[in-house]
This record gives sequence, C-alpha cells and structure tokens, in this order.
Amino acid sequence: MAHIWQEILGTAETHLTSIEDSCQKTFLVHKQVASPLKALLNQAESDGISIAIVSCFRSFDQQLNIWNQKWLGHRPVFSRHGRPLNVNAMSDVEKYKAICLWSALPSMSRHHWGTDLDIFDARAIENGHQVELTPQEFSGSGPCGELEEWLQLNLAKFKFFRPYSEFRGGVSCEPWHISYRPAAAQILQDFQLSDSHQLLEKSDIQAKHFILNQLSHYYDTYFSNICEEVE
Ligand SMILES: [Zn+2]
Repeated sequence: MAHIWQEILGTAETHLTSIEDSCQKTFLVHKQVASPLKALLNQAESDGISIAIVSCFRSFDQQLNIWNQKWLGHRPVFSRHGRPLNVNAMSDVEKYKAICLWSALPSMSRHHWGTDLDIFDARAIENGHQVELTPQEFSGSGPCGELEEWLQLNLAKFKFFRPYSEFRGGVSCEPWHISYRPAAAQILQDFQLSDSHQLLEKSDIQAKHFILNQLSHYYDTYFSNICEEVE
C-alpha cells in the first residue's frame, strides 16, 4: 500500500484512475477528479467547445527527467515572454529561476497529484495547430480564445480554478493549467517539505546540494504562490 506522501510526491499512482478526453485519448487523473472533470468536458462539448487534455499526471521520474534535461541544456528553456535562453551561460541561481518559470521542481509539481491538467482547444489541434502552450494561444484571436472565454464563465461551476492565471513573481502565467480545487487544496495542506527534501536527497537531480538549499524558497515563491480567487 502506498503512503499518502508518495502520492503527493509523484512516486505512487494509487490515487489515480483513467479517463478519456474529447479526442478519445486516455489520461490518469485523481479519483476525486474523474467525475467533475467528465461533467466539465461534457458541458463544454454541449456548448460547442471541444477540450483536449494535453498533459495531466506526471510522475516524479518524468518530472526529474524534464528538470535535469533543462538544467543540462538538453531541452529548451524559455523566458517569461517565450524567448529561448542559454542555460549554459547562467549561474546556478539564474538557471534555477529560469527553469522554475515553466517547470516545477520534481516532488513539488501539481501534475503529480492528478488534480491538475493542461488543456487546449481540440478543434485547433485537429486543424493542425502545433500546441506550444503560450499565453498568446489563449488570447482573443488565438486558437484557444473561445475556450478561454468559456473557462472564465464556467470553470468555477465545476470547482476548478487556474492557479497560474496571472504572473505573481513565481510561475509564468499559464491559462491552460486547470486544477480541481477541493482535492488540490487538501493535498497542498498535506504536503510536507521534509518529505520532498528526503526524496530529492536520494535522487539523481542535477546540482543536488544547491537545489536542496532552495526548497524553502521554492515553496514560498512557486509552490504555494498561486492565484486563489474564484473566476
Ligand atoms: Zn500544467
């Protein structure tokens, strides 16, 4: 039997169940999220908005891999405005801050929880739009402009919210990232920084000593620094 901290840190999948999105693709979500998410997808569908899930649950190992590849410069790192950055020319602090804009530290990603997902307009994808996940795509004239409008009006009805709906000095503005508030709020409450510290200490994260020293900073600046207001 997995422990709750393993579910929170992305090293267990016992809290998850699978669901299908509007494109008949299967995803793992938190058990408490499956039915409200289905209700949300169905309501959108009947309002003429077809929602595709781009990314949902991600394990600790997957997140660690993304993090390390970015740290090593093997995967692109972007500024808040989408400009590609050269991490090889950066100090550890600069690199850490640049990566944290768009990627969570493994063990502290909301995507470990199955309560959070990245979504896109399914019709835009069917029409060949290459998904980038940029705020421009969710602007009025962008491929997700209509979806954005629908989310503003309907998300709260299903108890979902957007933790990164505006830039607060931590994570970039991510209008595509939605979260099921009841389950996510409970997990945020149950989260223990010491568990994360222990797991990262045993992991093969790059610049481990430096990263372990940033955990409190990460918690304050990125992890708990979310938009709480109801849309
Ligand atoms: Zn996301």
